[in-house]
Amino acid sequence: MSILVVDDSPVNRRVLEATLRVEGFREILGASSAEEAFRLLGIEPAEKPASDVEVILMDVVMPGIDGFEACRRIKATPHLSDTPIIIVTAMSETESIEKAFDAGASDYLSRPISRVELHARLRMALAVRREQESRKARERELLAVTQQLEFANRKLTELTRTDGLTGVANRRHFDETIEVECRRLRRATHALSAPAWLSLLMIDVDHFKAFNDAYGHPRGDVCLQQVAAALKRALLRPADVVARYGGEEFAVILPDTPPDGAFNVAERLRIAVQELGITHTRNTAASVVTVSVGVASSPAPESADLLASADAALYEAKRGGRNRVHVATCANRPVA
Ligand code: GH3
Ligand code: MG
Ligand code: MG
Repeated sequence: MSILVVDDSPVNRRVLEATLRVEGFREILGASSAEEAFRLLGIEPAEKPASDVEVILMDVVMPGIDGFEACRRIKATPHLSDTPIIIVTAMSETESIEKAFDAGASDYLSRPISRVELHARLRMALAVRREQESRKARERELLAVTQQLEFANRKLTELTRTDGLTGVANRRHFDETIEVECRRLRRATHALSAPAWLSLLMIDVDHFKAFNDAYGHPRGDVCLQQVAAALKRALLRPADVVARYGGEEFAVILPDTPPDGAFNVAERLRIAVQELGITHTRNTAASVVTVSVGVASSPAPESADLLASADAALYEAKRGGRNRVHVATCANRPVA
């Protein structure tokens, strides 16, 4: 940490340096022009790494760039904006003092320089600077802690919404989402001329108890993970939500999807599971793991009704021979 003295007069520089040394300051850098000061401070053209300057004492009248302009340039440099600059002026008129403050100087000294005054002003500038630095360090720490906390909170929220085995949404997240989507659609339907639809798929693995019995519970778990991943992959819209509803049952929320579209999605999901090709010799519907799907759609849904309809449709799909999609007859179609 050093003090930079910028003055075109070698005599003035020496006098200032000597005074500073008497006052106990050891590391003193000198620059004979604003341009030289810029180089030392790492402002363009920077030829070498910037010196670690803590305070700048700046002469006003210099050939080339004067002290006020130099002050403005330094203050406009991000890594130097907090470095205090004390303008050293032979003129004590109010105008030049005002100009110094306008240019961003934090203080001024009039020549001839009094040792006591120099000491007091420097101590003050250094104290302010150090206080600023420690405040900034505290702010940075606080920011880092806040970010860590936000990250942990996001992770926690994610965990409370995720099913531990399969990584898809859990039942709780499903319950919340279906409520939100139903409410959103009921509100929107009043405003829309053409009806919007919300569709729900209930998906159940066929003869899964027999799968566990034949291949063991751990293989059953892996199978559920594969099924969940296949369902997720086969869904194309970001707004679609697949959730583990419970046991070997999954639910898929399809916003803005009419019955025919929902049927197509359901078929795609059913085929995606079948194409996993997980051997299941005790499945009556195929020689691999399959799912049955119940589809329900509504333009003005109540979540309980939608769930009941999808469940009833799933039951029909099972009754019809499994590995198939059944669409519920829609209770509340919009009035044409
Ligand atoms: P259906 O075709 O009629 O759906 O027959 P199913 O055997 O699949 O239906 P059932 O409801 O009788 O059995 C579901 C089985 O799913 C029972 C249970 O052992 C199994 N299961 C539920 N959750 C898990 C799980 O987390 N891991 C494993 N491995 N099996 C599970
Ligand atoms: Mg089942
Ligand atoms: Mg079941």
